[in-house]
This record gives sequence, structure tokens and C-alpha cells, in this order.
Amino acid sequence: MMAAVYTGQGHISVEPVPVPQIGPGEILVRVEACGICHTDLKKVEHDLLPPPRIYGHESAGVVVQVGEGVTKYRTGDRVIAFHHIPCKKCFYCSKKLYAQCETYKRVGITAGFEPAGGGFSQYIRVMDWIVRDGVELIPEGVSFEVASFVEPVNTCLKAVVEMNPQPGDVVLVQGQGPIGLLFTMLVKRTGATVLATDAIPERLALSRKFGASESWDPRTEDVARLCKALTEGRGVDQVFVAASAKGIVDQAIASSRPGGKILLFAQTSDTERIELSGADICKLERTLLGCYSASVDLQAESARLVFSGDLPVEDLVSHRLPLSEIREGIVLALHPDGKSLKIMVQPQRLS
Ligand SMILES: [Zn+2]
Ligand SMILES: [Zn+2]
Repeated sequence: MMAAVYTGQGHISVEPVPVPQIGPGEILVRVEACGICHTDLKKVEHDLLPPPRIYGHESAGVVVQVGEGVTKYRTGDRVIAFHHIPCKKCFYCSKKLYAQCETYKRVGITAGFEPAGGGFSQYIRVMDWIVRDGVELIPEGVSFEVASFVEPVNTCLKAVVEMNPQPGDVVLVQGQGPIGLLFTMLVKRTGATVLATDAIPERLALSRKFGASESWDPRTEDVARLCKALTEGRGVDQVFVAASAKGIVDQAIASSRPGGKILLFAQTSDTERIELSGADICKLERTLLGCYSASVDLQAESARLVFSGDLPVEDLVSHRLPLSEIREGIVLALHPDGKSLKIMVQPQRLS
């Protein structure tokens, strides 16, 4: 089969690799669609993990082989699969901090080499603990590319549940890329008012289409002042930081009211440093929190939101590329412009 192999900083090689062998309790899935996630870009560009690896963790496809003992799935089933599933028994799982569970941190889907998701290839081996709890059937009539959004929607839904915005709250979402736009859609559904920022005009227009009342370019507008003007001078109740840029957390704090909540979602780089005034948190009684990856408790709800069409995720797809053009897809995603949003890889298309 063909796979896009990460071979070292910034390099991806589309090359033949063996189709993975499955064992008892496992399934083999033919990948029909896999979205490019920002975390894939970071791993490729900043050499976060040693090569070779095959990335891609937003996979949707068809079961083509089932291992001994698998009864839940059959050949021909259309599925999505999560690459991380927690043990549900350890200290962190008991606190519902699934992303901190040691089992969760093990990647349970591979196309070869050190398991890394494998979705940027034609076939993936889904390991037994993922088959048990991390696979969802795609209903008839739902496309593979739409289904591939269940994983990113889960990660965003987890953050929205954590923040728990209320009807009448005013919420700022910084960054309106594919993830920021999902936040805009999800927060809007809670009955809160959504304000949004992004530097790309087309993304600002989309944010209004998906529910933002106002959206601004933070480079040319005084976001904190505008947020205060809309909240009787207080500032917004909550901020979702869905982009990483210098000064963005400072802007989140300046835009929020005393006692407000700020959630860091895009700050996944170990080397990124944030400088803040301690008094802005302490004296003004704000809460600064982090949220990372998916929650198995929200898997069924995420699947329902995507499969029902309640979230118009299809509108987020800007490019559908064959595996051979994945490098162009990565460059596009790294340097977004008005025409690029979610980049979908279709591994069964070779050109
Ligand atoms: Zn991701
Ligand atoms: Zn655990």
C-alpha cells in the first residue's frame, strides 16, 4: 500500500509500505478520508517525535478484515476510530482526566513503524482496546469526510463542556480556523453570544455564518475595547484561545471580565512561553485553564452531533487531496489563506 511517511523535520515521503498485519481483537480499516490536524503539522515541522512515523488521526473508512474474537464489527462496516482510548481504571481516569492516563497516551492505531495514527496511508490497523471502546459506526448517508470530524469535534466539545457557557453569556473565540469555527458552532448552541477574532477576512465571514455576532481582525481592531463595549464595560464572560500567537493570551485576559474564564486550547508547544500579570488572575479572580484531546465520555455525543448534520462540518472542508499531494496539503495548512480551511486527505486516490 502507499503511505505518507514522516522521515524527519519537515519531510514527508509518499512511498510503498507493507499493509499492516492484524492480531486477535483487532480490525484492518481501508482509509477513505483523513483530515489534517494542526497537531500533525507541529509534529512534522518541529520534529517533535523521532521518525519514521505515519501520522493522521482523523480517519474514516471501511473495515476490510476482522481479527479473531471481534464480534462488534464486520467486513464492510463504515467506521471512524479514535487513536487514543483511556483505561477507565487509573487515578487520572477516576478524575476524568483521560488525556493524562498512561493507556490513553499509547497510540492504538498504526499503519506501520511507531504507532502514530496512520491515517495518511491506505490501511490502518486498529488495536484491540480501541476496537473495544473507540470505534463508531458511520450511519448510511453520512460521507467519510464528514465522519472524520467526530474526533476534532470531540476535543472541542470537551472544552465547551468544561467551560459550560450559559445562555446570555458573552464568549470570545480567538482564532477561526477549523477548530475555532467548531468552537463558534458549539458555543452558539449553548445560547451564549459568540464574538470571534481572526486575521483572515474569509474566516471572519464564516464565523458570522456559523453564529458569531461580531468578528474582528485582532491586528487592526482593539479587541478588548470592543468586547467591553458590548458588555457594559465589563469584558466577556469566557474566552476560548484557539490560536497560538504572541500576546494572544494577554489579549484574552484584557478582553475578559473579572471572574471570567480563559481556556487555552492551542498552546500545545512545550517551548511556547506566556507572560502575564499575576494580578490580572489573582486580584481580578479570573480562572485560566487548559483542555487537551478527546473525552471518551463525549464520544457518542460528538458522533451524534456530526452524523445528524447538526454541525455543518462539511462547510469547513476547503481541499480534498490525493495522498500524493499531502505535502501540498501540509504547506497549505501551515500557511492558511482565504481559500484554505480543513484539508482532507483521500488516501485511496493516488493522483
Ligand atoms: Zn487532532
Ligand atoms: Zn486510565
